[in-house]
Amino acid sequence: MKKLTLIAALASALSTAPVMSANFITIGTGGQTGVYYQVGLAVCKLINAGKDKHNIECKAPSTGGSVDNINSIKAGQIQFGVAQSDVQYQAAKGEGQFETAGADADLRAVFSLHPEPFTVVARSEANINTFDDLKGKRVNIGNAGSGQRSTMERVMEAKGWKMADLGLAGDLKSAEQSQALCDNQYDAIIFTVGHPNGSITEATTSCDTKLIPVTGAEIDKLVADNTYYTKATIPGKMYKGTDADTETFGVGATLVTSAKVSDDEVYQLTKAVFDDFEKFKKLHPAFANLKEADMTKNMLSAPLHPGAEKYYKEKGWM
Ligand code: GLU
Repeated sequence: MKKLTLIAALASALSTAPVMSANFITIGTGGQTGVYYQVGLAVCKLINAGKDKHNIECKAPSTGGSVDNINSIKAGQIQFGVAQSDVQYQAAKGEGQFETAGADADLRAVFSLHPEPFTVVARSEANINTFDDLKGKRVNIGNAGSGQRSTMERVMEAKGWKMADLGLAGDLKSAEQSQALCDNQYDAIIFTVGHPNGSITEATTSCDTKLIPVTGAEIDKLVADNTYYTKATIPGKMYKGTDADTETFGVGATLVTSAKVSDDEVYQLTKAVFDDFEKFKKLHPAFANLKEADMTKNMLSAPLHPGAEKYYKEKGWM
């Protein structure tokens, strides 16, 4: 009799037990032919594989890029985003295009990712061999929320150029610009992006183009003055039309969040990536050289989120 009562009690408890609804997180990425989009897909894949354990479900839509992602995190529309190291720095300090908004005190770093060389691709017949040859040319410098536009503006400022120094300053998104270049709407396009990637492959295989080096005194000064910039090389033969190495400078891609996002969500995301790190690295060729110890500190300027810090301490990485 006692046993039966127990079973009945259990059954009734089970039938009224609340169904746990999942916590949804969104990672802001970039255009679909870039690497940020692949980062979002890779991170979400690893998180969603452990949903039964942590009850977190992840999605990673395409967005306008770094600046868009940081603004959407601040507005509470998304929880995580990929952002260039220079954009992360400027948002955290309230500099550059974030001057009016002021320092974003809630911006938090999670980890850094792949290097992103500042990449210029020009039509072969456009008579462009150096960055300075872009003067007077039709150049797609990127949509307003993108990291490449932000970095391009810094380079132009360093060189003392105005927008009017370009024949045309386009604002196409990264996913649209390779086609536009090959349709001869532009002489050159700009993309701050990990390599190899679909976008630059498209631009270098659909028509005759080449990569243009970005070097010189102003670039040396930008790199010397700012820790979030570094010299970078795009290996020769990676893309059709460019057999020699291309010297340029670049940033690091980073994953950021807000202090308002819970420690558990950030911890679970961090754990999902690093517990399965070998698998993560295989999800895109631009991740091949990632090293755990660098990712916890390099190129990060906003404070680390405590959820990520907890995982790194458990691992003895800090
Ligand atoms: N670095 C670019 C940006 O911030 C995005 C690069 C990518 O899509 O991989 O907008």
